[in-house]
Amino acid sequence: MTTQAWDLDADLAALDAAHLLRKRRVVERYDGARLTVDGRAMLAFCSNDYLGLAQHPAIVAAARDGAARWGLGATASPLVCGHSAAHEALERELAAFVGMPRALYFYAGFPANVGIVPALVGRGDAVFSDALNHACLIDGARLSRAELGVYAHADVAALGRLLAASPARRKLVITDAVFSMDGAIAPLREMLELCEEHDALLLIDDAHGFGVLGPEGRGTAAMLGLRSPHLVYMATLGKAAGVAGAFVAGEASTVEWIMQRARSYIFATAAPALIAEALRASVKVIAEESWRREHLQALVARLREGCARALPAGWRLVPSSTPIQPIVIGDNATTLAAMAALWQQGLWVPAIRPPTVPEGTARLRVSLSAAHSLDDVDRLIRALAALAG
Ligand SMILES: *Cc1c(COP(=O)(O)O)cnc(C)c1O
Repeated sequence: MTTQAWDLDADLAALDAAHLLRKRRVVERYDGARLTVDGRAMLAFCSNDYLGLAQHPAIVAAARDGAARWGLGATASPLVCGHSAAHEALERELAAFVGMPRALYFYAGFPANVGIVPALVGRGDAVFSDALNHACLIDGARLSRAELGVYAHADVAALGRLLAASPARRKLVITDAVFSMDGAIAPLREMLELCEEHDALLLIDDAHGFGVLGPEGRGTAAMLGLRSPHLVYMATLGKAAGVAGAFVAGEASTVEWIMQRARSYIFATAAPALIAEALRASVKVIAEESWRREHLQALVARLREGCARALPAGWRLVPSSTPIQPIVIGDNATTLAAMAALWQQGLWVPAIRPPTVPEGTARLRVSLSAAHSLDDVDRLIRALAALAG
């Protein structure tokens, strides 16, 4: 559209010229890590379906039965009449699974954080955010109107200085538990100690740890044995859980307060009950099928060994024990060319460029899934090695 004020065609052309225009691919079929795109069979290393549950038969059956029992739309916000017995049971089961007194289910992770942060802090309060946090934590912090302090990535000492210097009564620290672009785990134990010392709350976003880390996949907080009234745990359910949505868990009064105040919870239609039923089945599968996490660890080890031998000179596999295994290449053009060369061979590995990652650290973001085989990983390693020659 083009008027004097709205020359969006020119704006789009400028994005394109700066190589910032994003394009979607249309996927015709999903089968674990095997996708069909434009009629071509692709092996995907780009999804967050870490446990390979997105087509799990028991979870699909629960969704189908859920549709038969509940129909489709939830018809209203949870605080009106959209909160079904399926949602209620899911929240109880999620709280028990992560070992917290109470949980609240949101229809997606992005609106969850955009609602939770302003529910906890406002004008006159302070929020402290890791420099590499996910966009929805950043947007939640902005929307809260609390004073914002950004500390260098995972820099506990810097966070301590900010907390000590802040005169605000209510202080909230927000962080990804597993950083989505480098797979690193935040120093959560040290951060929680600081929060207790300064009477701050720590909100952790475990989008990439829930289901994958900790005993039975109970998440990063369970893995580290973190327990505290100062801890607010949030995780998303469209990644390892293979379905959709998110939840926040913590002290009963904290969760009740979020339910009373989070605008993205109060003023949005609840997720369909069939999704809640699918998630109840997913939580069971996550706990029971521990072979998925063991297999994932074997895939991570295989990739790391292979890359240590095979990566082209100057490329660097970032240290990570999670299924997020980024290969930092450096400049944008080489990274895009690598992605295109892999695509030609039927391998879908996304290139991530600034501003999503720091300048000069463009990378291939390899993500592994329990749906991959060791042979799939070997195929990727061979293709990467061939790029060297
Ligand atoms: C994906 C992601 C979200 C958003 O969750 P959705 O359910 O996809 O909206 C939030 N936080 C982090 C760290 C994520 O990676």
